[in-house]
Amino acid sequence: MSGVSPLPDRFIVAIDGPAGSGKSTLAKLLAQKIGAVTLDTGAMYRAVTAKALDMGIDVADEKAVGEIAGSINIEFVNDNHGQKIIVDGVDCTTRIRQTDVNDSVSTVAAHSQVRNRMVNLQRETGSNTRTVVEGRDIGTAVFPDAMYKFFLVADEAVRAERRLKQMEQAGTPTAREQVQKNISRRDRLDSSRADSPLAKAPGALEIDTSNMNIDEVLQTMLDFMVYRSAE
Ligand code: C5P
Repeated sequence: MSGVSPLPDRFIVAIDGPAGSGKSTLAKLLAQKIGAVTLDTGAMYRAVTAKALDMGIDVADEKAVGEIAGSINIEFVNDNHGQKIIVDGVDCTTRIRQTDVNDSVSTVAAHSQVRNRMVNLQRETGSNTRTVVEGRDIGTAVFPDAMYKFFLVADEAVRAERRLKQMEQAGTPTAREQVQKNISRRDRLDSSRADSPLAKAPGALEIDTSNMNIDEVLQTMLDFMVYRSAE
């Protein structure tokens, strides 16, 4: 397509933002458009959380959770149905999206021992190809030299509505109030933690997706990338 060919062969696109801002949807579409692979870093923190919960470990216990993070094996596998996450040999694609994981993941992600291991794993990917990486600290901490950085935001009510629909589509309908509570709690914890909090990176393009459709956001991102490449 026009406008994409001037992009280099290898680079990182960093997409950060709060829950429900559109990161995952846009990361997938953008990657398809530019021939890139994706890395969902939130899924990695969710994997550690699910494992801790399933082992009966207190998620507030940094040492215990840090040990899990230190030895966990996480693989992403693409098939006809999309991307699966395999954790220590077990398919956890559905497990990591369940309510108890939603409620504990921000506590787990605040532990530096967990973050250090996850960031190392994240940096091992994405060096030899075009990679779209989505998360909370990608442009600020994981890949501060990323060639293209985006910070997606949206009104809290819009984000809750999107999440509600996603949970319905995934076959796990959840009460609106619970979804809203979870989103605002995660926003608060993710933005206020000491270690690499959710923040807009220097040089990132901020896009408020509240009143935009997906195609408009995608086009805004592609335009910015072409513009950056021409600088
Ligand atoms: O993106 P997702 O909603 O799946 O992320 C789940 C949680 O993982 C976030 O609320 C945040 O606590 C944590 N996270 C993080 N750093 C990232 C990605 C996700 O702390 N890079």
